[in-house]
Amino acid sequence: MEQKTQLNEVKKDYHSPMHTAEHILNQTMVRMFGCPRSMNAHIERKKSKCDYRLTEMPTEEQMAEVERRVNQVIDQHLPVKIDFLPLEEAAGIVDLNKLPANVSDTLRIVRVGDYDACACIGDHVQNTSEVGHFKLLNYDYQEGRLRLRFKLVE
Ligand SMILES: [Zn+2]
Repeated sequence: MEQKTQLNEVKKDYHSPMHTAEHILNQTMVRMFGCPRSMNAHIERKKSKCDYRLTEMPTEEQMAEVERRVNQVIDQHLPVKIDFLPLEEAAGIVDLNKLPANVSDTLRIVRVGDYDACACIGDHVQNTSEVGHFKLLNYDYQEGRLRLRFKLVE
């Protein structure tokens, strides 16, 4: 599943503001619900969707809070930085269990300010000021999977 996310990230219609928003959303979901980062994401220019494994359906208030927090991070105009770290050093920063087994000795770590760090090969904006704003369109929950759809607005 995780490998599929990696493939999505180099797709043709790949959109770096959307993808950067995905990083922020992932970290926000991890912090709020203690869930893993999205195991299945479909990121496109106009509209994106991410799936999360949650043990119960979030409340409307919680989902509004997700949107609020993502925008709060974006509005801090955080720098997005790339580091290349040896695997051992990266282990203290990101969850290596999520990576494919054949990963190289050096990892490309993408940081959104001090808010998020994850291993990623995709393209990102250089500052969250380039993302625009995160708009949660809708979500549904079935059998432990929350699927949410979002777009970026001015
Ligand atoms: Zn990325």
